[in-house]
Amino acid sequence: TYDSLSGRTAVVTGAASGIGAATAVLLAAHGARVALLARRTERLGELAAKITADGGRALAVTADVTDEESVAAAVQRIHSAYGPADLLVNAAGVMLPNPVDDGRADEWQRMTDTNVTGALRLIRAFTGDLLAAAADGRSADLVNISSIGAHVVFPNYAVYGATKAALTHLSQSLRAELGPRDVRVTNVEPGFTESELRDHIDNPELTGQLDSMLDAVGLLTSEDVADLIAYTTSRPRHVNLRQAIVLPTRQ
Ligand code: NDP
Repeated sequence: TYDSLSGRTAVVTGAASGIGAATAVLLAAHGARVALLARRTERLGELAAKITADGGRALAVTADVTDEESVAAAVQRIHSAYGPADLLVNAAGVMLPNPVDDGRADEWQRMTDTNVTGALRLIRAFTGDLLAAAADGRSADLVNISSIGAHVVFPNYAVYGATKAALTHLSQSLRAELGPRDVRVTNVEPGFTESELRDHIDNPELTGQLDSMLDAVGLLTSEDVADLIAYTTSRPRHVNLRQAIVLPTRQ
C-alpha cells in the first residue's frame, strides 16, 4: 500500500494537467501535503480545491520553471507554508517536434529551458531539503519524469529526445551523488500517455502522425504513471527503483 506517503511534503511541477496533476492527486489522497507548481493559476486553484474537498492538503503555487525569480518566489512560498520538502517530482515539460532543418531555435530554447534547466532549478532549490530529511532518517525522493524518447529515436523529435536523454543521464548522475546519502532518485520514462502534451505541437502534419500512432498503440492514462510514482516513493527507504520504463502494452 501507499500508506507511508502520509505526512510527507511533496512538490510537484507540471501539476496543472496530465501526469503532474494525477501524481499530486494520488500523493495527496495518501496523506502527503502537496505543493502544486505550474504557470496556469486557475488550473492549480481548481486542483487544490478538489484535493482539499477530498480531504487532502494542497498549496497552489503559480511558477514558471524557466524563470529564476519565479522559482525562487515559489520556493519561498512553499517553505513558509509547509517547511522543508521530502519529495520532489519534476513533471513540468514541453514537447515541440519539428524537423531540425526548420531551425526552430525558439522551440529548442523552450524545451531545453523547461525540460532540463527547469528541472535543475527545482533540484537546486530542494536538494538541501531532501538531504536533511534523509539525514534525519526519513524517506527523501527525487523523481524525474523523462521519456521513452530518451532511448528511442522518433524522426522530428530530435531536440525533445535530446532533452529527455539529458534528464535521464542527469538522474543517473544525481543518484550516484545522492544515493550514498540516502536520497532516492527515480527516473520514470513513460511512453504515450494521455495528457495535454500534444496540444502544443504547431505542425499539423506531425500532430496527425502522432494521433495515428496513438490510435494504433493506445495510451496510458496519467493516473497509470502517477500510480508508479506513488509506488516507488512509498517503498521502504532502503529500496530504490531507480529507473522505470512504462509503456502502453502495444507500444
Ligand atoms: P501536460 O502538457 O499535460 O503537462 C505538462 C505540465 O507542465 C503542465 O502542467 C504545464 O502547466 C507544465 N509546464 C509546462 N511548462 C512549464 C513551465 N515553464 N513552468 C512550469 N510548468 C510548466 O503533459 P504531460 O503530463 O504528458 O507531461 C508531463 C511530463 O511527462 C513532461 O515532462 C513530458 O515530457 C513527460 N512525458 C509525457 C509523455 C506523454 O505521452 N504524455 C510521454 C513521456 C514523457 P502550465 O502550462 O500551466 O505551466
